[in-house]
Amino acid sequence: MKIAIIGFGAAAIGFIEKMKDTGNEIHIFEKGKDIYSASISGIRADGKLFVSKEMGGAMDIDLDLQKDLVDFWIGKSGNGEYETGHSFRNKDYYMQFYEKGFQPIISDFYHLGTDQLKKILFNIYEKFRSLPNIHFHFETPVSNISVERDHVKINNNEAFDKVVVAVGRSGYKLIKAIIKQYPEIVLNSTTVDIGVRFELPNHIVEDLNKEMYEFKVRYKSKTGYMVRTFCNNPSGYVVTENYGDITMVNGHAKLKEKSENTNFAILTTVQLTQPFNDPIGYGTHIAGMSNMLGGNRVILQTYSHFVNSKRTKNLYRVMPTLSNDKYILGDINLAFPRRIIESIIDFAENLNQLIPGITQPDNLVYAPEIKFYSNTLNNEKFKNLKFIGDCSGYTRSIIYATAHGYLMAEEFLIE
Ligand SMILES: Cc1cc2nc3c(=O)[nH]c(=O)nc-3n(C[C@H](O)[C@H](O)[C@H](O)COP(=O)(O)OP(=O)(O)OC[C@H]3O[C@@H](n4cnc5c(N)ncnc54)[C@H](O)[C@@H]3O)c2cc1C
Repeated sequence: MKIAIIGFGAAAIGFIEKMKDTGNEIHIFEKGKDIYSASISGIRADGKLFVSKEMGGAMDIDLDLQKDLVDFWIGKSGNGEYETGHSFRNKDYYMQFYEKGFQPIISDFYHLGTDQLKKILFNIYEKFRSLPNIHFHFETPVSNISVERDHVKINNNEAFDKVVVAVGRSGYKLIKAIIKQYPEIVLNSTTVDIGVRFELPNHIVEDLNKEMYEFKVRYKSKTGYMVRTFCNNPSGYVVTENYGDITMVNGHAKLKEKSENTNFAILTTVQLTQPFNDPIGYGTHIAGMSNMLGGNRVILQTYSHFVNSKRTKNLYRVMPTLSNDKYILGDINLAFPRRIIESIIDFAENLNQLIPGITQPDNLVYAPEIKFYSNTLNNEKFKNLKFIGDCSGYTRSIIYATAHGYLMAEEFLIE
């Protein structure tokens, strides 16, 4: 079989790992100049792997397979170094949060670190590249795919027996083009997560960081919206991400170099109902509004000003880890809908009962942090065109995306 994979991210890696020794001819088309300059994602920043049935994607992935794939990633480091923690495996913590109305998420974390990821990715790439049946084509963005009777063409040019699209969320332009051509492949699109990134001194969350590395909770706020913590980075750094026309905030942590602060996102899940069906457009407009106010930088505000809707002019004890040319002190309330702000405040105030210090007035709040859900795509529609990883709408994490690729390869092999 001659197979094309579009994109070289977590899902493609899982697919190739399973397929590599089967003699099939595999061509990888990646828009980036090389593995490092491909689009930003969790395999290039942070690398927090987790094993969990409760998050990571809308697929049921066997826990043993998840752990095997974690071991695969760690094994590629060469030295086996990582940080680890267990979210809510400890029953006492579980009960404390549960009693206050939170839904604790059970998960095991393995943090590789942004600094170590480069080497891991390089080792994976070198191994694949050394095989005679695997061919990499960098600086080759795919913008067009057409399904013919017994083959699939990419960029109106080369034909393949099968094409696997693994372009992650940064590949939304290609997915949009495919959906325009084959609208029947879309199963749903209604959700977007909109929120902020919190930053506070390590000592406030030190115990939880040690026990869990990342503490994951969901909470049904008084507004009716579901709110959750996301991507906790002990001793980490806040960063911005540029998506062409919008700039958003994110966080990561390194294995060696540490900061004095912990950052994590608080996200509100917004489920849009008829007649509206453009959650990506909705989120993009809110991000655009924040950027407009911030002069294309992200907005930074202290927690007390966030609550009282006042522009922040000075900071006090907590200093941002984000470099000062990337943010503007301002008021997030001017850009975010009231219901979202109220949900975040309700969440933080309730969390403060369990983690005193979360709502210290001088803690930092950055915006916008928005997580788009890809449309869920129907993989049954075509025999020779498949979607894996985040672009398929079924995954939202490194391990789930890797597993999706791995399982898709398995499916090809038993056909
Ligand atoms: C900043 C950041 C940090 C994250 N941190 C974590 C984390 O710590 N833990 C975790 O579990 N998840 C994390 N995630 C999510 C995680 O990265 C994704 O869930 C996972 O990488 C999805 O894998 P994927 O293969 O679907 O896509 P990706 O890993 O994003 O790979 C897609 C690849 O396709 C390429 N591509 C895009 N469009 C085209 C095109 N038209 N033609 C050719 N190539 C194309 C891109 O350049 C990219 O290399 C993070 C995401 C981001 C953005």
